[in-house]
Amino acid sequence: MSKHPPDTPCPCGSGKKPDDCCAPVIKGNTPAQTVETLMRSRYTAYTQHNANYLLKTWHRSTRPQSIEFDKQMQWLRLKIVHSNDNTVEFIATFRINSKAHKLHEKSRFVQEHGQWFYVDGDMM
Ligand SMILES: [Zn+2]
Repeated sequence: MSKHPPDTPCPCGSGKKPDDCCAPVIKGNTPAQTVETLMRSRYTAYTQHNANYLLKTWHRSTRPQSIEFDKQMQWLRLKIVHSNDNTVEFIATFRINSKAHKLHEKSRFVQEHGQWFYVDGDMM
């Protein structure tokens, strides 16, 4: 059972259906092939408050014990500015108390045993 109607596009803003985009990555059926795919799936996991997936894709060297979601915080959209082999620069827009904010970050990723992990990021 999906929480979303079948025609709702993926939260990551790819324009694709979730089943053709982040959903199989988050379920673990299709490992992310590129850092951009992992980045998109992690953004989608944030919109869904999926702490399990976020922790699973966080490198053990920087992984927090747990993730607290701010109930006031509503993710609006993701824009990938640039990505290369192991970094993704993105702008994520979110709303708190009806005010929009932007998170502009360059994230670093590392691949181990064929799987990508988020390491850390620099605010831009
Ligand atoms: Zn997606």
